[in-house]
Amino acid sequence: MDREESAAIRDDLEYQLEADPNDANEEVRSLEAESVPNTTTRVTTQPTGEAAQLMIPVLGKSATDLTDTFTDDRGGGTRLHEAMDIMAPEGTSVVAAAPGTLERIFLSDAGGNTLYIRSEDRETIYYYAHLAEYAQGLTEGMTIRRGQRLGTVGSTGNADPAAPHLHFAMLRTQARSEWWEPATAVNPFPLLTRR
Ligand SMILES: [Zn+2]
Repeated sequence: MDREESAAIRDDLEYQLEADPNDANEEVRSLEAESVPNTTTRVTTQPTGEAAQLMIPVLGKSATDLTDTFTDDRGGGTRLHEAMDIMAPEGTSVVAAAPGTLERIFLSDAGGNTLYIRSEDRETIYYYAHLAEYAQGLTEGMTIRRGQRLGTVGSTGNADPAAPHLHFAMLRTQARSEWWEPATAVNPFPLLTRR
């Protein structure tokens, strides 16, 4: 991470603190405690840093374009969606919401063309589904940077061809768990919109 990027993340974090009066005092204190060189890494790995680090994974979309679909019914009411659908024309670029390691490139019946990208601490999996195409050169095990192009929005798997979208999920897991093991979904909406 270069200096400019570090500064940008710090700016984002401060913006978020202003917007969240409940945590402000606590966080300002911790920021002050860390206002010595070489502490940026600690700031960005704190939970509040995650929102600052995430970007909307469909190119050209802004926070006001997003809808919270986390608790929508799926499977005829048998389960919750537990993800976010970002509607976009087929072919729109899908980009990495967060950095990590590309753990699995997987074609599934429901998800179609999917990608599993794992955070550096291995405790979060970012899941991208229904892609029309993968970006060229993606291979399992490669390092993915935030904003890297992953492919294009589509409707592969069980998505409605008339409503192409990116299905994006964030799953909390244990570092030693495999990508396919049960994990706890968290709602990306407040993190991507900072609400
Ligand atoms: Zn979905």
